[in-house]
Amino acid sequence: MNRVLIIEDEQAIAELEKDYLELSDFSVDIENSGDTGLSRALSEEYDIIILDLMLPGMDGFEVCRRIREKKQIPLLMVSAKKDDVDKIRGLGLGADDYMTKPFSPSELVARVKAHLSRYERLMATNQKQNDIIEIRGIKIDKTARRVFIDGEEKAFTTKEFDLLTFLAENPNHVFSKEELFREIWDMDSIGDIATVTVHIKKIREKIEIDTSKPQYIETIWGVGYRFKV
Ligand code: CA
Repeated sequence: MNRVLIIEDEQAIAELEKDYLELSDFSVDIENSGDTGLSRALSEEYDIIILDLMLPGMDGFEVCRRIREKKQIPLLMVSAKKDDVDKIRGLGLGADDYMTKPFSPSELVARVKAHLSRYERLMATNQKQNDIIEIRGIKIDKTARRVFIDGEEKAFTTKEFDLLTFLAENPNHVFSKEELFREIWDMDSIGDIATVTVHIKKIREKIEIDTSKPQYIETIWGVGYRFKV
């Protein structure tokens, strides 16, 4: 069930919004001041926040700004003054939408639903993209644990895959053999840092055209390795 936080000092309006949202299966909490609204927004997990502009304590502008510093959830701002809409836009506070009072509660519910589905699509896209790493000719599918070099699939052992993925996820960062060993192998596993060298060699044989001139995993003499982008 999606959770909504309403920060609104006019209790009658807050209750009306809550009733309509609950009819659409949302779980709704209300805070009546800017300060309490902000602390609740930051301490609990909400899917969307409906924020009134004129509030006792801290005003909606400030509440919006402070929530945005910490959270990327959709923020719907409401105001009694039409002029405020321009002000909200002008300040670039990162609010996702604005509504001017009075508005119909069903319009509010429709907007809340629209923002939630847009946000969910966005998250799903990010999630999908995060599971695929593509750097020049290399494509790593983390979910399926498959690696393609210029479109051709190559077989990698578990540790080779983990090592390649770790380096590719941290491009241009130089890691020592010790760091890589700690990262990929269990602390108490058999082997030593020479294992890292052996695995790098095997990975290079699969991904590099010329292993004596690596284009992807560079050796930084005396330091370690880095995945070059
Ligand atoms: Ca108000």
